[in-house]
Amino acid sequence: MPALTRLRIAGFKSFADPVSLELLPGLTGIVGPNGCGKSNIVEALRWAMGENSARAMRGGEMDDVIFAGTTGRASRNFAEVTLTIEPAEGETLPDPYAAEAALEIRRRIERGSGSSYRAQGAEIRARDVQTLFADLGSGARSSGMVSQGRVSALVNAKPEERRQVLEEAAGIAGLHARRHEAELKLRAAEANLERAQELATRLESDAEGLRKQAKQAARYRSISDLIRAAETEHLAVLRARAAEAAAQNASLLDAARAAEQQAAAEAEAAEAALAEAEAALSAPREAEAAARTALERRRMEAERLAAEIARAAQEAEAAATRLAALRADLAHAARARQDAESACARLAAEQSALAARQSALPAEIEAAAAARRDAEATLAAAEQASEAAAARAAEAEAARREAAAFVREAEARESAAARQ
Ligand code: ATP
Repeated sequence: MPALTRLRIAGFKSFADPVSLELLPGLTGIVGPNGCGKSNIVEALRWAMGENSARAMRGGEMDDVIFAGTTGRASRNFAEVTLTIEPAEGETLPDPYAAEAALEIRRRIERGSGSSYRAQGAEIRARDVQTLFADLGSGARSSGMVSQGRVSALVNAKPEERRQVLEEAAGIAGLHARRHEAELKLRAAEANLERAQELATRLESDAEGLRKQAKQAARYRSISDLIRAAETEHLAVLRARAAEAAAQNASLLDAARAAEQQAAAEAEAAEAALAEAEAALSAPREAEAAARTALERRRMEAERLAAEIARAAQEAEAAATRLAALRADLAHAARARQDAESACARLAAEQSALAARQSALPAEIEAAAAARRDAEATLAAAEQASEAAAARAAEAEAARREAAAFVREAEARESAAARQ
């Protein structure tokens, strides 16, 4: 059986500095005072064998295994534990390290980044490390590793846990781990197979669709060929018709050219005749121009006269309106004159009446002055009478008061007499 021959600890728990432990054949004992780090050595061993529970390492999280510092030393940022395993005389290491003389397993953790495993310097999975130690009848959870207070737990262990101890003793714990891994692989393969079957079904239905599309494409191709043949025939017919039309057009073109030549000759003759006619036309044209000028003059004269006639008619109409207005004014003036004459007569009569009145006025004024004098005398007399009346009234008031006092006195006497 291969054996652990060396343990190297650096930055792990209380081991701030690198420490190397040689494990010689036979029994090795580690002694020391409480808290000096004995259990930390066993934990370093279990940790390097693949322990992944921080609680099992007496911590809250896996980073707690890194040296946390003391009053005199700063903390470290990583921890590393290296195990060296060597085969016994005449044996080999488990596969795939059978050819190696010694196997070096290293686990390293960096603060905040998790841990990694290396075997002979090459990176490997945690599961491979766990399987390797299971094959060696050891491991982080092996019953061969008994932590403090775990002996009583082993005594009270469940049948399943006891079976694990027996399997380790028999050296088949690795087979169990392998079987578990094989089962996981089998389940993954079954899931892959299922997925592959689903994919095959989907591809089959896709292939069916593609077959239909291929049939449609073949049909489309044969119909396209038919259409192309029909189009070719149609084009041949069109070409024959076009050739026929071209021949007809050529003869028509010849006829048109002959007609054009004839028309050109006729046009030439017509041009000569036109030149002659132009020459003969100059005298009548001048006469026509003179006649046109005279006509224009007459037309303008006629327009001017018509305008004058219209203006005269407007003026005559305005004069008639004015005449009617003047007549009405005249009739009005005649009536006004009559009214003025009768008013004059009336005024003359009033004037003579006023003159007569004016001559009578001095006597009237004299009479009025006398009347005024009489009135003033009457007023003075009235005032005197008024004053006398006021005096009489005062006297009467005094007499009334006296009489009232007399009455009151009489009444008092009468009531006094009645009381007696
Ligand atoms: P006992 O004989 O009582 O079981 P021990 O020798 O087994 O003690 P350990 O339990 O291995 O001692 O070590 C405990 C010591 O390790 C404590 O002093 C503790 O402070 C220290 N320690 C644990 N984790 C760390 C850490 N991450 N960084 C620094 N020191 C640590």
